[in-house]
Amino acid sequence: MLLFTPGPTPVPESVRLAMATPTLHHRTPEFEAIFAETRELLFNLFATDEVIMLASSGTGAMEAAVTNLCKDTLLSVNSGKFGERFGKIALASGLKNVEIKHEWDTPASVEEVVEAVKANPAIDALAIQISESAGGLRHPVEEIAAAVKAINPSIMVIADGITAIGVERINVENIDCIIAGSQKALMLPPGLSILGLSSAAIEKIGGGKGYYLNLASEIKKQKQNTTAYTAATTLIIGLRAILQEINEQGGIGMLYCDTARRAKATRFALEALGLHSYPKTPARSMTTIDDENASEIRTLLKTEFSVNVAGGQDHLKGKIFRINNMGLIDISEMVWVVNAVELALAKLGRRNFDGTASRVFNEEYFKSTINPTPKKEEK
Ligand SMILES: *Cc1c(COP(=O)(O)O)cnc(C)c1O
Repeated sequence: MLLFTPGPTPVPESVRLAMATPTLHHRTPEFEAIFAETRELLFNLFATDEVIMLASSGTGAMEAAVTNLCKDTLLSVNSGKFGERFGKIALASGLKNVEIKHEWDTPASVEEVVEAVKANPAIDALAIQISESAGGLRHPVEEIAAAVKAINPSIMVIADGITAIGVERINVENIDCIIAGSQKALMLPPGLSILGLSSAAIEKIGGGKGYYLNLASEIKKQKQNTTAYTAATTLIIGLRAILQEINEQGGIGMLYCDTARRAKATRFALEALGLHSYPKTPARSMTTIDDENASEIRTLLKTEFSVNVAGGQDHLKGKIFRINNMGLIDISEMVWVVNAVELALAKLGRRNFDGTASRVFNEEYFKSTINPTPKKEEK
C-alpha cells in the first residue's frame, strides 16, 4: 500500500534504520553530540534565531507558542481545522481570542487581518497556518506578517508551518515563531515538534509560561544541547538522519524545487481529468480535490490500486480527497497515483481511460528539466 496521506508520510528506509540503533541515555556526551548536530541542521532549515525541539505532536508546539507568546488577545485565522485549533488553545489557556473565519477553501487576506489588528489594540499575537491542511490551502503569511509588523512590531506572529517547512522556502523575516511537526514534511514517525523563534520572541517569552511547555526552560537547556525533560532521543536521531538524507539527495533547495514541480504536475494531471482543485490558493504540500464521488474514489484507490489518500474532516467528510506531496517522493509512485485516480474514474463510469493523467503529469513535470530553457522561478 502506498501511503499518500498528507501526514503521516512514509519514513524512508535510511531513517528507519538509523532509529533501530540501541537506545541512548539522553544525559550523555554521545547524545549531546547528536543533539548539537541536529540543531545545526535545523538552524539551516528554519533560518531562525533559535530552534527548540519538543517531545509532543504538532499541537504541543502550537500550544507552547500561544501560551508563551500571547499575554492578552490572540488573533487567529480559521480557514480549517488547524486554524480553528489556535483559537481553542487560546480560550483553553485563559486568553482572549479574535477569529477571522472563512470556508475551508478561502485564504485570509492581508486587508482583513490589518483591519482586525487596527480594530483591537489588545491583540498581541497573530496565529495562522502557512499551509492549512484541512482544505490544502496556502495563506499569504509572509505578506500578512509584514503588514502586521508595519502596524505594530511588538505583535508576535506565530506561523504553523507543519505542512510548509520542508515543502517550500519560507521568508521568516517577519515571523516570530514557526512550527514544524515530525510526521508531515519531515517524514518521521509522529511525536516530535519543533519551534523556530526570533530574538523578539525570546525576549517576549522572558521567564516563560506553564510547566512542560515552558519555552524559557527549554531555550536555556537546548542552548546547552540538552532538554529540560527526557528528550525524544530516537526521533531526534531520526531527524538528524532525514536532514542528512535530504542533503545527500541534493539539498533542501532541490527538495523545494522537486516539490513545486510535483505539486503543479499533480494538479494539472487531475484537472485534465475534469477534476476540480478545492482550495482557491493551493498549497504545495498536498493536492486537494472536491468531488461528489470523493469517498468512492478514495475507496477504489485503496482497494483496487493500493493507494491510501486522505479524505476530509467535519463538513468536508466524503466531499474531498487529499493527496500528499510532502517529502522525498519517488516520481514513479506519484505517476502511479494520478494514473490510479484516472482508473478509478473509469471504474465509476465517469470517463474512458486514455492515459491522460500520467501523460499530463509527465509533460508538466519533465518539461522544465528536459527542455533547454529551465524556468527561473524555482531555482
Ligand atoms: C497535522 C497538523 C497539525 C497538528 O499536528 P498534530 O501532530 O496532529 O498535533 C497542525 N497544523 C497543521 C497545518 C497540520 O497539518
